[in-house]
Amino acid sequence: DINEVIKHKNIIVYLVGGCVRDLLLGLENLDLDFVTLDDGLNFAKMVHKRMGGKLTVHNNFRTGSINLGNRINIDIVTARKEYYEEPGKLPKVEFGSLLDDLIRRDFTMNTLLLDFKNLDNPIIYDYFDGVSDLYNKKIRVLHDNSFIDDPTRIYRAVRFTCRYNFEIEDNTLKLINKALKNNVLTSVSEDRLFTEIIKGIKERNSYKVLKKYDEFNLFSFISNTMFINNVIIDKFNNLEQINKIKKGYKFPQISDTEVKIMILFHNLKEKELQNLLEKLSLKKDTKKKLLELKENYGKTLNILSKPNLSSYELYKTLNKKTYEEILYYLIMNYNDNIIRSRIYQYTTNFKNKKLLIDGKDIKDLGVKEGPIYKKILDIMLKETLNNNLNTKEKQLKVLKE
Ligand code: ATP
Repeated sequence: DINEVIKHKNIIVYLVGGCVRDLLLGLENLDLDFVTLDDGLNFAKMVHKRMGGKLTVHNNFRTGSINLGNRINIDIVTARKEYYEEPGKLPKVEFGSLLDDLIRRDFTMNTLLLDFKNLDNPIIYDYFDGVSDLYNKKIRVLHDNSFIDDPTRIYRAVRFTCRYNFEIEDNTLKLINKALKNNVLTSVSEDRLFTEIIKGIKERNSYKVLKKYDEFNLFSFISNTMFINNVIIDKFNNLEQINKIKKGYKFPQISDTEVKIMILFHNLKEKELQNLLEKLSLKKDTKKKLLELKENYGKTLNILSKPNLSSYELYKTLNKKTYEEILYYLIMNYNDNIIRSRIYQYTTNFKNKKLLIDGKDIKDLGVKEGPIYKKILDIMLKETLNNNLNTKEKQLKVLKE
């Protein structure tokens, strides 16, 4: 469809960056980035008209993004504006402006352009020897100032090494170490660094990324109290394997990223977490939940380890927790048979049990209102859990008795 728009309107458009890199590696990448020498926004509107989806417009940069809803995202950016201001030097500036667009990128493997007009006879433009680096599995910056311009590229380099099993090329590695020695990361806000960490934990091999981030000491720049140890790395490893187990525990589809954030903060003390959260732009609600979790962790574990824990107590302890929190408890205590079995009992037996009667049903039986109501409801909850009273009818019957 995009090709049709290009041909019809005679627009010069290149596919660029990560999607070309992954295409050459034979990997799926549904984030399609286009760069055009025409007006990117107008082009995005034309593509949107033809293909539908949700269009987001960035007027200032004459850029448009289209979310097609089937995991495919299309980003269309306009190459440097200077190009349009100097129409007299069109061919040279065209070349120059594309270079401008490319030279601002992070690594050679991300500078490849695919001429999208000619899909039957695809042409790749490779100005920085990106193809050769790609095939030699090397991550290489375009110039020596790269990590000073944008220190978050250090995180990106580490991520790519783990994702593709690539190596950071010697000079690039030297530049990273030099930049770190000069504390370049202190000039970046904690929030931006945290965004890079989140991208790392979303990777499929996130435990490897974590380990590598730690080797480069990339956590200390976010919080000097945050440290990653083998336990945390191990838990990340577990989490990646736990998908099978999740099925057995009847976990629904939940956000692993949320669980990973909980694990990441495991070593922080309450006050340290609070200080860190103040610097991050996570949602207020998320921060509150993370702090509550930290506050209640020890207490909850104590209850879950109690020798004669009743169904009722187990239910009351886990009932207000999200599946993500329960998974966190499970992973952090996976070697503890008792806790594991309690969580199993809860998620497979109790999680969906509910008291279907309420105060009104008690009133209907002519019981005078008062603290007795709470007691009755508690007893009824115990009965419901122990005797599997899964319909309102069954619960009402027992209530009457
Ligand atoms: P991923 O697969 O993780 O999304 P990607 O390479 O596609 O990797 P994006 O963050 O989507 O990364 O960025 C798209 C392109 O923009 C990259 O391929 C790269 O050329 C460029 N880019 C992104 N971040 C930076 C940066 N910090 N510095 C320079 N160029 C960048």
